[in-house]
Amino acid sequence: MKIKRVRVTPIAFRDAPLLNASGIHEPFALRSIIEVESDNGYIGLGESYGDAPVLAVLQAMQDSLVGLDAFDLNGLRARVIQTVARLGPAEAGAELAPGSHPSKQVANAYSAFEVAFLDVQARSLNMPLVDLLGGAIRTEVPFSAYLFFKYAKHIDAPYAPDSWGEALSEEQIVAQAARMIEAHGFKSIKLKAGALEPEHEVACIKALKKAFPDHPLRIDPNGNWSLETALRMAELLGDDLQYYEDPTPGLDGMAELHERTGLPLATNMVVTDFDEFRRSVALNSVQIVLADHHYWGGLRDTQALARMCDTFGLGLSMHSNSHLGISLMAMAHVAASVPNLTYACDTHYPWQEEDEEVIKGGKLPIQDGCVRLTRAPGLGVELDQDQLAKLHEQYLSIDIRSRDDARQMRKYDPAWKIRKPRF
Ligand SMILES: [Mg+2]
Repeated sequence: MKIKRVRVTPIAFRDAPLLNASGIHEPFALRSIIEVESDNGYIGLGESYGDAPVLAVLQAMQDSLVGLDAFDLNGLRARVIQTVARLGPAEAGAELAPGSHPSKQVANAYSAFEVAFLDVQARSLNMPLVDLLGGAIRTEVPFSAYLFFKYAKHIDAPYAPDSWGEALSEEQIVAQAARMIEAHGFKSIKLKAGALEPEHEVACIKALKKAFPDHPLRIDPNGNWSLETALRMAELLGDDLQYYEDPTPGLDGMAELHERTGLPLATNMVVTDFDEFRRSVALNSVQIVLADHHYWGGLRDTQALARMCDTFGLGLSMHSNSHLGISLMAMAHVAASVPNLTYACDTHYPWQEEDEEVIKGGKLPIQDGCVRLTRAPGLGVELDQDQLAKLHEQYLSIDIRSRDDARQMRKYDPAWKIRKPRF
């Protein structure tokens, strides 16, 4: 089964004004949609970053994959390495999306196509993708409610405000959690932090604890707290948290914080590849790693990461950036295949609008906090070509070509700069 055609399409979809350590989400998020067609008529799907440096590699790959056997993942990897070497190093991207780091060019381009190749393979064998990963250990994959501080609308107001409204106060954050849990049945809650005063963010965790006493809680300041601040907040938080995600920057800072507090620390910032994993184990910097197949080098390498976590006694959860249903299903299939998924995965999916899903049938359900896998072949979703065309047109109509939350924040405050740690 040979690859006959490859198509990479950049898209843009509306994104809410969500606050974080690097600024605020822009009005549109970018993604790349990958279609890989085999000579016997199967189409495999992938979804990855849409930022210009990543897109350049993905688009440069398109023709080089034609003629490759759809089962030849080593051949795919060799061609990714060749293409990245030919194009040269990319510029650094947003820090919150480690996948756009120049060091991740091979891992993220390989991942984008690996998912599509595995999807083609599974479809040709008439089996769900998870079966190629060793089979489903679970068919219901748990996700967490992912809360954000946010404004009611974007400053540039390119479209009508989203329906979530402002969320800056404790009451508003609790209301956001209530709506998200009501809609999707999430059993755990994550609060994106590092945006407002740390004491206020901790007060919001306390309010969530009071409102949802049975939901495990996580806070993620994206390394925007100094060690001293992280220690002070740890004192205030006590044992309110399931885990403490990237409170303070660096492997050394995290190691010292863990040594001094004993709190379980999670990360998607200081352990983003196997070299950092090794260094983290040596320092005991983190106790939980957030996997993300988009930059960990695909679904099989994510399984390897899971085995490493098991070997070294670390917990495993999953990181997310703004994404649509193809990524959600890739995340769900790999999470279903991993024995030691110790925590519910993160997802931005509830933040994406109903009319902007790129797969047929619209947005996928998340019920009882879970994505359910079916026996449908491959990823179990089909591309809606009309939606793809619409979202591609939207991409062409805007001038965002790489995510930059700081640039967006400067529209609100021209003097605003990323300072890490800010607090
Ligand atoms: Mg994080």
